Amino acid sequence: MLEARDITVTYGSRRAVSGVSLTLRPGNVIAVIGPNGAGKSTLLRSLNGALEPATGEIILDERPLTTYSRRSVARRISVVAQEADLRFPVTVFEFVLGGRYAWASNSGWGWETARDVSVASEVLRETQLESLSGRLMNELSGGERQRAVLARALATEAGVLLLDEPTANLDLAHQATILALVRKRCDTRETSALVITHDINLAAEFSDRVLLMKEGSTVAVGPPGDVLTPALLREVFAVEVLVDAHPVSGVPRITPVHQTLR
Ligand code: ADP
Repeated sequence: MLEARDITVTYGSRRAVSGVSLTLRPGNVIAVIGPNGAGKSTLLRSLNGALEPATGEIILDERPLTTYSRRSVARRISVVAQEADLRFPVTVFEFVLGGRYAWASNSGWGWETARDVSVASEVLRETQLESLSGRLMNELSGGERQRAVLARALATEAGVLLLDEPTANLDLAHQATILALVRKRCDTRETSALVITHDINLAAEFSDRVLLMKEGSTVAVGPPGDVLTPALLREVFAVEVLVDAHPVSGVPRITPVHQTLR
């Protein structure tokens, strides 16, 4: 379980996150929503210790995050940032296998075990990347690369996934597939995920709770039906929306109402 307790994160004198608390329990998917600059990415980066809060605490399985080694954090928390670090030409398979590295017992060539290879292969199958496994990462389309980055995160088998806009470059079918995979992982393996997304309807469909942020603070946190209301979305995004029920799943469905349609 990962908790943020009343954290404030600053860049110099600029306060990017102010007094945010949240609890990510096994099996939970939390969607983080808010306008650009609301502090979503900063919050995510403080949750794995990449940024240290100025005040407040991050607690991982009942111990302060600061008491864990980097390697130990890497085994427990996997982050998918918006940009992957692709300075070296590696194949998709090698890249995904790299997700197993935090578990390696030696650091030279041939560190991977048969299990590491089998986990990587399984994840490539799940993310429908098998046919691309021999291709170089820097020769993929943006969407294919994004799926490979998620595959690498799944290959870590970390109990906590922190995902920064994992569906931003994906087509309609792959958006749903990726979030369905994250959802399935959380449901079946006691994994938890925090997902930053601009897609409010995907958030409504795949998350248990939504954290709505504005200017570094929490505006609301709770089940999608309680948070994705016209009043709260107007307060945060300054847009009018209609909310009805999705015809198939019944989850809230949000439709922005543009000025010209009024
Ligand atoms: P979001 O992810 O919601 O778009 P961010 O967490 O990226 O928001 O940014 C929150 C605030 O912190 C913004 O005002 C942004 O300009 C500022 N910020 C983000 N990264 C840095 C940085 N490296 N240095 C200084 N200010 C930053």
